[in-house]
Amino acid sequence: MDLSFSPEEEAFRAEVRAFIEEARPKLPKSLGAPEAATRTKDDYLAWHKLLYAKGWVAPIWPKEYGGPGWSVSQRFIFNQESANAEMPTTLPFGLSMVGPVIFSFGSDEQKKTYLPRILSGEDWWCQGYSEPGAGSDLASLRTRAVRDGDHYIVNGQKTWTTLAQFADWIFCLVRTDPNVKPQEGITFLLIDMKTPGITVKPIIVLDGAHEVNDVFFDNVKVPVANRVGEENKGWTYAKFLLVHERTGIAGTARSKKAVERLKEIARAELVDGKPLIETDAFARKVAELEIELAALEFTELRTLAQESKGKMAGPESSILKIRGTEIQQRITELTEEAVGYYAFPYERGMGSNEYPPGPDYAVGAAGRYFNMRKASIYGGSNEIQRNIIAKAVLGL
Ligand SMILES: Cc1cc2nc3c(=O)[nH]c(=O)nc-3n(C[C@H](O)[C@H](O)[C@H](O)COP(=O)(O)OP(=O)(O)OC[C@H]3O[C@@H](n4cnc5c(N)ncnc54)[C@H](O)[C@@H]3O)c2cc1C
Repeated sequence: MDLSFSPEEEAFRAEVRAFIEEARPKLPKSLGAPEAATRTKDDYLAWHKLLYAKGWVAPIWPKEYGGPGWSVSQRFIFNQESANAEMPTTLPFGLSMVGPVIFSFGSDEQKKTYLPRILSGEDWWCQGYSEPGAGSDLASLRTRAVRDGDHYIVNGQKTWTTLAQFADWIFCLVRTDPNVKPQEGITFLLIDMKTPGITVKPIIVLDGAHEVNDVFFDNVKVPVANRVGEENKGWTYAKFLLVHERTGIAGTARSKKAVERLKEIARAELVDGKPLIETDAFARKVAELEIELAALEFTELRTLAQESKGKMAGPESSILKIRGTEIQQRITELTEEAVGYYAFPYERGMGSNEYPPGPDYAVGAAGRYFNMRKASIYGGSNEIQRNIIAKAVLGL
């Protein structure tokens, strides 16, 4: 595997850097806040809109649907540079999840209607997969859709729906046939959140943020035209989407940046007058983390190299999901360990005029530690990913 970049790719890197420098002052200050609790819809969309104006918002989309036509290496460079510059990420629900499902399986009409609005950020999408009692065992979902002429009537509940409070649309897995094998009776529907009968109720998480919701459906009328692909074939489209979700979760470039920050903190923190980074125990933990991260990066590069030859990641993306999220969690653990009790006062939101009791770099460390526990649960829990690897990759 050749890991060097061509002069054209280096020129592209320079273009990305210049764009980021120009974009940075246009982003709202609250994006730098330690917690997501204070973010508005406009905050989330600010980076998306700047990327859209440049034609760079949907790196994985084919050019014919509005993607930038980047090679795999260009995508890698863009991710690296954005992470190094600590730029925000775009939300995955439209760009990485339902968008690819629509351009791969949707009708021409659906492509024309939804794709441009995902790109521009006009439509905010959320993901209606999980239900109470149907998370890991997703195929047991019970939200029911019954055909009534040109419509489906939808009844049921989705849960853990990320940022549904801002959503214009929800893509949902619904049960259309309860009398067959669970996987064979599921349909993929696109539902306008303004439809009468939909109620969104917040779930407030441990760090006080409103990140997730319950979404209730009470006789919600959805046009049959909003069905993606065939009735009862939704499981195929659902699985296609999950592979995309898991690849994006690895977050290698961002973890590298976060390890750099961790090392800066460990250089500044002193133990008996000696920088923490120079103590044997902590130095070993950081070294182990860096080794794991390097291994993950090479695994990701191998996946990208395959992709550049036209072979999309399949169940192997579960490996990236497990290791990527374990590393993200480990970074927050070690950061908390490094700053000790100064990790705890984290409720100092943007606009607060109170000084933190400890160093600035400690602010939010506990909040991030607790918040990152979610990473081994969402996108399919890590235990479930291990089951997938055991069956589909190792053939056990
Ligand atoms: C922050 C956050 C955001 C989320 N956002 C969304 C969203 O936007 N849309 C959406 O649809 N969903 C979302 N989810 C839901 C997420 O996909 C589910 O939480 C996840 O699939 C696990 O399902 P569950 O919570 O029902 O846990 P369960 O399935 O009940 O699992 C409980 C525990 O048992 C383990 N377990 C279960 N079955 C097995 C097995 N067969 N073998 C070994 N271990 C097993 C699991 O690993 C887990 O540790 C989100 C979750 C979180 C935490």
